[in-house]
Amino acid sequence: MTARLLDGKKVAQGIREDVAKKTEELKSVGLKPGLTVVLVGDDPASKVYVGQKEKACREVGFKSDLLELSGATTQEELLEVIGRLNGDPSVHGILVQLPLPRRIDPDAVLEAIDPAKDVDGFHPVNVGHLVAGIPCMVPCTPLGVVRMLESYGIDLAGKHAVIVGRSAIVGKPMAHLLLAKDCTVTICHSRTPDLASFTRQADLLVAAVGRPRLITADMVKPGAVVVDVGINRLETGLVGDVDFEAVREVAGWVTPVPGGVGPLTIAMLLENTLTAAIRSRR
Ligand code: NAD
Repeated sequence: MTARLLDGKKVAQGIREDVAKKTEELKSVGLKPGLTVVLVGDDPASKVYVGQKEKACREVGFKSDLLELSGATTQEELLEVIGRLNGDPSVHGILVQLPLPRRIDPDAVLEAIDPAKDVDGFHPVNVGHLVAGIPCMVPCTPLGVVRMLESYGIDLAGKHAVIVGRSAIVGKPMAHLLLAKDCTVTICHSRTPDLASFTRQADLLVAAVGRPRLITADMVKPGAVVVDVGINRLETGLVGDVDFEAVREVAGWVTPVPGGVGPLTIAMLLENTLTAAIRSRR
């Protein structure tokens, strides 16, 4: 059996078209969603990500601003910039691109962002609301995973979801979102002994680790849904955390890398910004 592909690019395109349509409709009430991305320093990978986000914003008709600050920017200066953006009514979403230079405490910066404008969903208020099941800004990557599974009609209730990775950006919010969808959730991480004994129990396996091809075919239950969040840059190109070619012979559904979860992350950023703009008028 060869697994069916979860085509993230296609799902993301549909979401982007929907956001563009709603943005057009908001013109009639004089509302233009605005996202400001703050980039500190000149990390090449961050520049690529920021460029993709800006382009996506422009395509759907948002006001999109990029604040490029020098790598020598102090924490106080950055906090001042965030304070200004918090008070600017034309800015509905604020995204501080990570990683920040070492001198700057990322927690202090993320906590300074108005939770209503925190389109990344990293502010402790949003994290707490997610855990409590209160509507909030949800981190884009795990939100995109759920959206993709739902768009393919994959029923999540009662499924055993095994998540490999426990980061605050992917693994932990993924666990809460899947719990809210009535999955039984197991989280594995770098200190989990015998990882395969857990992954083999998964009806839904989410890999968010950052280790090329960590998940091999023998670690996957036949017919399982396998979602590969990993992005690893090898000399031969981009690969995920899943050994795609072998796993697709065992799984029921699988995401490719690239073209799987990645495009959904940006689509969800657009949707979060649109939501923040609409809520700003309530
Ligand atoms: P992270 O480094 O913060 O966390 C990695 C997690 O993997 C940790 O919790 C660690 O305990 C676990 N881990 C490490 N080695 C392990 C092992 N051998 N077995 C089991 N668990 C292990 O990374 P992150 O920010 O969560 O990102 C994970 C991956 O997802 C990276 O490749 C990243 O580039 C990618 N990512 C992709 C998107 C996207 O849009 N597709 C978004 C965010 C992150």
